[in-house]
Amino acid sequence: MNDIENLPNPKVEDKPLFGASLHELTGLMENHGQPAYRARQLYEALYAQRTPSLDQITTLPAALRQALKDAGHTVGLPELLQTARSIDGTERYLVRMADGETVETVWMPGGDGGERGDGTQAAEEEEHPSHDDDDYKRATICISSQVGCAVNCQFCLTAKLGIRRNLTPGEIAGQVAAVLNRHKVEVGRDRINLVFMGMGEPFLNYASFMDAVRLLAGPMSIPESRMTVSTSGILPGIEQFAGETIRPKLAVSLNASNDVVRESIMPITRKWNIAALLEAIAAVPLRPRERVTFEYVLLGGINDQRQHADELIALLKNLSAKINLIVWNSGPDMPFHEPTPQDVGTFQKRLRDAGIPAFIRKPRGRDIYAACGQLKRTLEQPPLVEIATL
Ligand code: SAH
Ligand code: SF4
Repeated sequence: MNDIENLPNPKVEDKPLFGASLHELTGLMENHGQPAYRARQLYEALYAQRTPSLDQITTLPAALRQALKDAGHTVGLPELLQTARSIDGTERYLVRMADGETVETVWMPGGDGGERGDGTQAAEEEEHPSHDDDDYKRATICISSQVGCAVNCQFCLTAKLGIRRNLTPGEIAGQVAAVLNRHKVEVGRDRINLVFMGMGEPFLNYASFMDAVRLLAGPMSIPESRMTVSTSGILPGIEQFAGETIRPKLAVSLNASNDVVRESIMPITRKWNIAALLEAIAAVPLRPRERVTFEYVLLGGINDQRQHADELIALLKNLSAKINLIVWNSGPDMPFHEPTPQDVGTFQKRLRDAGIPAFIRKPRGRDIYAACGQLKRTLEQPPLVEIATL
């Protein structure tokens, strides 16, 4: 497993500034013989204004901008190479990094991507219709944390890609900046939720993921209470996460009610079993009224039967938990099938009758392969609507 924990960093020819901390920018300005307030101006331009090119950072003198360019610097926001738009308004982007690697990022307007009805603030907002064409926007952005994924869950298309590399903090937060720019979002006025549920396992790229969270919650002004990170259950990551003061909400992809089933669909269970996982989760200090979300992908006949619901209830009885049931999104050549609507309903009812909040996550952007587990840089699969290169 060590190989998946020690991935290479990107080989980037130019020097993207997006992702740098204020401390790093201060050092850079010093090297250019500039006072510290120039670093602050650059920091504001990069993260608060999300200025896409050095030429447009007009708070800096032209000579300084030129000097930065001469030294090989760029703003270096990831590029939205291609967009596919779903009939439900969801957009899936193929996003290119400076070294040419690509990941996928998803924009889901009008809601929080499936938390509807769970009593949270985000769910209440979703009860009201979207005003995307008005001057107020509400949306969730689903972000990738790695190029591909090494975890190899059997039901997930991203797993088929294998892993190429980690994303940097700038590339993770940069996906958000690029998408916010495309939709002309004004953070503060518009309501944006972030979910770290795209390609990759955030807790296998922990330091960069958390650096990105700090940029997003800090100068980019998106409160961490509006962010959710999903992990397949990387135990050391959960332990470290427990010690963070600024952190997103935690979601864990449990997906099975016992180790035998979980091992067969998530081989990572051999390394950290369910009991160890739940123990680590129980040690995460929760905020008032906070619950840990357990994601549970329903696979027909495999984990969606009555005994599985009962095992799940027993597992979670001592935790402040809620369950998001996700109907499996099919992919080619995968040995699974969707659960029947009747089994889904029965499963949810059993959990609810036992007092566990359980919600059925509605799939977003299925027609463009943007739904959970379908992100795999789908260049070869023509989406329903292809909007030419941006
Ligand atoms: N790697 C992280 C985050 C990304 S996956 C994780 O696994 O938690 C986000 C969610 O999609 C996970 O809960 C995962 O179990 C689920 N998922 C993966 N493949 C899926 C599929 N084909 N259909 C439905 N959900 C899927
Ligand atoms: Fe990776 Fe998550 Fe897919 Fe598992 S479900 S292979 S951890 S992206």
